[in-house]
Amino acid sequence: MGPDQPRTSTVEKGAFCLARCTCGWIGPARRARSLARDDASVHTTDRHSSATNGTPPPGISSDQATGRHTQ
Ligand SMILES: [Zn+2]
Repeated sequence: MGPDQPRTSTVEKGAFCLARCTCGWIGPARRARSLARDDASVHTTDRHSSATNGTPPPGISSDQATGRHTQ
């Protein structure tokens, strides 16, 4: 299973259908499967988006010891 594989699936519960994810997330019960899939799509984009445009990793520190004092 690649990183772009959908990790959500829809589960039918009686007359309702809800989406669930491998991370443990479960969407609200919907009357239509298409709505549950929409919930899964939103969840996947929101929580498992491959685009890493969130918080940048803390690796750049201004700890360079360039004690060059030109006077
Ligand atoms: Zn998830």
